[in-house]
Amino acid sequence: MDIYNLKAGTSPLIISVPHAGTFVPEDIKKYFTAIARTLPDTDWHVDQLYNDFANANNATIVKANYSRYVIDLNRPSNDEPLYPGQTKIPLCPEETFDGQALYEDTSDMTGRIEKYWQPYHDELARQIERVKGIHGYAILYDAHSICQIVPRLFEGNLPDLNLGTVNGISCDKGMAKAAFEVAQDSSYSAVLNGRFVGGYITRHYGDPEGNVHALQMELVRGNYMNEDGFVYDEARAAQLKPVLERVLHAITNNFDAGIKPKPV
Ligand SMILES: [Zn+2]
Repeated sequence: MDIYNLKAGTSPLIISVPHAGTFVPEDIKKYFTAIARTLPDTDWHVDQLYNDFANANNATIVKANYSRYVIDLNRPSNDEPLYPGQTKIPLCPEETFDGQALYEDTSDMTGRIEKYWQPYHDELARQIERVKGIHGYAILYDAHSICQIVPRLFEGNLPDLNLGTVNGISCDKGMAKAAFEVAQDSSYSAVLNGRFVGGYITRHYGDPEGNVHALQMELVRGNYMNEDGFVYDEARAAQLKPVLERVLHAITNNFDAGIKPKPV
């Protein structure tokens, strides 16, 4: 199994999908508990919401194929906590979000950074440089989804659309404003820099001064799938997809980098 799938486009937009992978190597899976094998914390099918947009608009998509239970690509490789004071999701988790054990026995995590984490980040970095080579800047949209109710991670019901720009520092301010206005102007609840301000990918690559603009979108999964059995729901997705596409158009169209594209 390839570590990730890449569809390279020519637009300034790169969509990163680090948590939709469901593959677990057998030498890890054999120690998994029954609940771990159902992969409940996956950002199920989230890439399906963006593929049509990416194809129509020539965006790049990098999608991880391995489960977040193997290694979490949206955490730093030194495993520092992203949200100090809150329940920590480690680089190589040993529990579900609900606190159920992932392993029957103690598990061996050695080598996972080199094998599964580094290749994804090397590819993201390559794509950012490639797109910058074409346009002078790159926009990185880190696409996620989560169950609406996870008491160990946040109180109450999560808003439907959670945009994160690391409290305003990971992308151009006008870009964030345009994206948030479109999200608010929909039938879904929306928040900017609420519980999810952006994980490692948004924080690490977002560098407006260096012409890389990063945003995270954390979606409530129930708006496009059934939490029972984690099945994609075409009808619900058909409602959500146009809103996400308007958000992406707002991000890409309302931005003047002030950089003249290099002649191709
Ligand atoms: Zn995620």
